[in-house]
Amino acid sequence: MEYVDRKKRGLTIQVYYREIFRGVWITTKHFFRNLWKWLTFRKGGVVILYPEETRPDMSPNNRGRHVLVQRSNGQPRCVACKMCATICPALCITIEAEESEDPNIQRRPRVFEIDVSHCIFCGFCVEACPVDAIRMLPQTNELVGYNRFRMIYDKEKLLTWHPTVSDDVVYGYNPKA
Ligand code: SF4
Ligand code: SF4
Repeated sequence: MEYVDRKKRGLTIQVYYREIFRGVWITTKHFFRNLWKWLTFRKGGVVILYPEETRPDMSPNNRGRHVLVQRSNGQPRCVACKMCATICPALCITIEAEESEDPNIQRRPRVFEIDVSHCIFCGFCVEACPVDAIRMLPQTNELVGYNRFRMIYDKEKLLTWHPTVSDDVVYGYNPKA
């Protein structure tokens, strides 16, 4: 095992008042800078009052709301392999599988739920899916709620995404694009 000889902490680090003053200075500097921007009607002067307001310049790659990709018959593309639920570090995906009526597909999800109040929006579920059945849209304004039970997105809610583009065209966060 490699031994790391850490530097000795000097007096300036041990006397933490210096860091407190530095923190107060940074906060004050940003306060007056933002106030000046606000007074002169410049961008960045005020905070966004989320969720009533959202940023218009949100990145198209932002990892926001989850959606389940549909087949052309409206059924989810998901084959209930549970790889997304297995990799999810927040353990917020619940899937119950059932046999599919389609002879070409073995399984489909009977229950597919994501608890967005636990989700950390890491995007691992999107990356793990072998059939590109789950994606994340940039939007975040729907992801808030006063009741945590209403923040559990079921299959029907996850299937409300009706892309106006072909299935092959990627919209939203997709690491395989
Ligand atoms: S984004 Fe991350 S935390 Fe959220 S459901 Fe997917 S894997 Fe889980
Ligand atoms: S969304 Fe993808 S990874 Fe998750 S169960 Fe369905 S097919 Fe498997």
